[in-house]
Amino acid sequence: MNLEPVDVVVIGAGPAGMAGARTLADLGLSVVLLDEQSAVGGQIYRGINSASPARRTLLGPDYAAGAHLANAVKSTTVRHETGASVWQITRERQVHYLKNGQVRSFAARAVLLATGAMERPFPIPGWTLPGVMTAGAAQILLKTAGIGPQGPVVLAGCGPLLYLLGWQYLRAGIPIAALVDTSRREDYWRARVHLLGALRAWPYLRKGVSLLRALRKGEVPHYTGAEQLQVEGEGQAQALSFVVDGKAQRVSASTVLLHQGVVPNIQFTQALRAQHRWDDAQLCFVPETDRWGALDVPFISVAGDGAGIGGAQAAALQGQLSALGLARTLGQLTPAQRDAQAAPLRAELERNLRIRPFLDALYRPREENRIPARDDVTICRCEEVTAGDVRRFVELGCSGPNQAKSFGRCGMGPCQGRMCGLTVTEIIAKSRGLTPDEVGYYRIRPPIKPITLGELASG
Ligand SMILES: Cc1cc2nc3c(=O)[nH]c(=O)nc-3n(C[C@H](O)[C@H](O)[C@H](O)COP(=O)(O)OP(=O)(O)OC[C@H]3O[C@@H](n4cnc5c(N)ncnc54)[C@H](O)[C@@H]3O)c2cc1C
Repeated sequence: MNLEPVDVVVIGAGPAGMAGARTLADLGLSVVLLDEQSAVGGQIYRGINSASPARRTLLGPDYAAGAHLANAVKSTTVRHETGASVWQITRERQVHYLKNGQVRSFAARAVLLATGAMERPFPIPGWTLPGVMTAGAAQILLKTAGIGPQGPVVLAGCGPLLYLLGWQYLRAGIPIAALVDTSRREDYWRARVHLLGALRAWPYLRKGVSLLRALRKGEVPHYTGAEQLQVEGEGQAQALSFVVDGKAQRVSASTVLLHQGVVPNIQFTQALRAQHRWDDAQLCFVPETDRWGALDVPFISVAGDGAGIGGAQAAALQGQLSALGLARTLGQLTPAQRDAQAAPLRAELERNLRIRPFLDALYRPREENRIPARDDVTICRCEEVTAGDVRRFVELGCSGPNQAKSFGRCGMGPCQGRMCGLTVTEIIAKSRGLTPDEVGYYRIRPPIKPITLGELASG
């Protein structure tokens, strides 16, 4: 196998990866930035370099702000490989990726993982029907192609991305049949405890309030405290039904967009056998790192939402901090130089993260939307395994997600457990009366991304 040497491979060209790669290159290290997308930007700034001025305006100032990061990384010596899907990283820092059907590989002195977040699964009855998508997927269509659904659309769930998409749809003239919010009164009470911290991050609060105001002004029907969500339809989504204050509601729509927050993409950190812990505030697993984002795997660090959800600005700051940490480890900086450069970044990061406890409490996804009560709800879409199947596995003695693979193949399809991992952990934990930490997560193995035998042979 031909392994090309490089100082640092950065995986993921979102805010964390772009900022990290630029910092490393500015410090004189050779850097390769790999991303499966066709351009830099990651999730939030997807398509930023190709978006027309009109589309940038439509998507809002937070989106347009990404142009600055994208241009900055372009002006460095960073070698950016687009369309590069990384399918394996070894603990010895061999990085294998697929590009144009060919396997290529690097031998890196260090690796920075900036693979971001993915949307939390939303396993409710009917969520696998055609016409149901995640809000993030719908937003990708808007960002990259400027298109939205035809006909009535319902947005359902909780979290800032849901309101942001609603606001973007209003501006794009896409009609919204309803915004169905699952947040309850008790979520607002729980969040109140963190209000002081949130007030110290007032620009975020102001943004949230102005999104909600715009949706109200746009006369979008808005339901709050919705429970018992169910997508109805025969072969195609036709309506979303739910209950508010004990009253049954039904909104007709051929497109239902679900969203209940994002969770770290931990496929690589898990495959590397790094330590993880359950974060009960964010209801997900996060890799254990030191304050420079370093894993307990030598010379491998993680930055951005992949290390815990903090948002785009925090991701860019973490990317720079992890880069400084790696540069020190590689002998490019003294500890004093690293710390001096890090100090203002840390202060800014602290300011950025003040809003998180408030958001995590306010938009805590309901248990019924994470752990389906109904047995017939599909949870592993690749292998068509239901919630009831997993509960039956537990009755038969299945103790955790890895045994569940042997019992019924869940997590063994093309997505490699990305879609069902958290749901399977939480169902088993609840059925066994254990914590998610005690039950654990899938043991992830390469290939992280699908690869054919022919492609593998090409390497
Ligand atoms: C679908 C979606 C839409 C979002 N939209 C918004 C928004 O509009 N506004 C907002 O404020 N926040 C949004 N967020 C949250 C936002 O993504 C983050 O806060 C922020 O982008 C995190 O930055 P990051 O650099 O950590 O990761 P990301 O921006 O997520 O970047 C990660 C990058 O890693 C790449 N990658 C992952 N795995 C591989 C692999 N195996 N091989 C190669 N490349 C890989 C991805 O292609 C991606 O470009 C969104 C999140 C999601 C999941």
